[in-house]
Amino acid sequence: MDIKTFKPRKLEIPVTEIEQASFCRLDDNLRSKTLEEEFKSGVKWQKVPIRYLKMKPDEIDSEIIKMKSMIGDKLFILGHHYQREEVIKFADTTGDSFKLSLEASKVKNAEYIVFCGVHFMAETADILTTSNQKVILPNMAAGCSMADMASAEDVEDAWKFVEENFDDFIPITYMNSTASIKSLCGKNGGMVCTSSNAKASFEQYLPKGKKIFFFPDQHLGRNTALSLGVKKDEVKVWNPFKENGGLTLDELNKTKVLVWQGHCSVHTRFNIDQIEEAKSKGANVIVHPECTNEVVSQADYVGSTEYIIDVVNDAEPGTKWGVGTEINLVKRLASQNPDKEIFCLDPIVCPCATMYRIHPAYLLWVLDGIAAGLVINQVDVDFEKKVNSKIALERMLNLPK
Ligand code: SF4
Repeated sequence: MDIKTFKPRKLEIPVTEIEQASFCRLDDNLRSKTLEEEFKSGVKWQKVPIRYLKMKPDEIDSEIIKMKSMIGDKLFILGHHYQREEVIKFADTTGDSFKLSLEASKVKNAEYIVFCGVHFMAETADILTTSNQKVILPNMAAGCSMADMASAEDVEDAWKFVEENFDDFIPITYMNSTASIKSLCGKNGGMVCTSSNAKASFEQYLPKGKKIFFFPDQHLGRNTALSLGVKKDEVKVWNPFKENGGLTLDELNKTKVLVWQGHCSVHTRFNIDQIEEAKSKGANVIVHPECTNEVVSQADYVGSTEYIIDVVNDAEPGTKWGVGTEINLVKRLASQNPDKEIFCLDPIVCPCATMYRIHPAYLLWVLDGIAAGLVINQVDVDFEKKVNSKIALERMLNLPK
């Protein structure tokens, strides 16, 4: 990006972000309707053959069971913790994005990996699996609003500018990003991280005097930096809609951690009032580090999805938990721990709208395809991106435990 020829980008809010509140409701009934009814929710859905639109939940369930047994060991279904109940019950394994991708890389006999999650997760699974395994995303419209906030083009421009003016920045990307950004990090000495090892990844570089350019979640980046003693004014936000990210060279010079202006639409719904309300009921508060720093600093516990699951499962019977993460996971934790009181900090029931696009009818559609010898919705990362992304992922895997 030539500074003199910089043309500010049009302010484009990702469609997935605009659509985020489409499935929010005041009651707690998140049960699936027919796909035809769900199409009325006002979000973008991938087109499917008409037969799948009207199928009733019971009919879809029995056909999925039939298809699973017909395809047998060649099939492995991965279910992210934030998936709706009607989908996750068919998963061969459940987990967060990285755990699922690692699981996928271990099931070498499975030719078809169906990822019930969102697009960047299926890309990561494709990077980590062998060339004869096909990774399938049941609905290609299941993106991630956070990943969509960092387009490959914008990140490349920003990195080019930073790299041309400074020689001490290292790019680190959160797992929740496209393969293009993982590849950029791999090519430029950086790495990928998850919410459970973000701190360890920063520790690889900050003590050596390096600066970090972190994509795409400003909150995870800021929370991690502050937890390592970086001062608030040494963390700056890169705004992709402004010339040079809206920062002067002097400001960038004084920056230790530069964070991309992205966020998770689900985790930024949590606020201080909700925390105070939960604490007034005698609840412990546990939140995900994608929440704002204001929220994180008031919570009793902060950690990744897997951490939240472990802490709540291991808690003493009779304890109360106000949880700041995706509603499908909170509801599952509550039903699996009837001896504890577990509730979502946000009283409005708001699932991750992109995960929610994996309706059971889409799962059936891709399984029908496999049974008929047709691969529908394969996610296939190109060779160069795969190689460089793998480098960035392997640097993460080699982090000290
Ligand atoms: S919960 Fe947030 S970060 Fe996770 S997939 Fe949904 S929008 Fe993306």
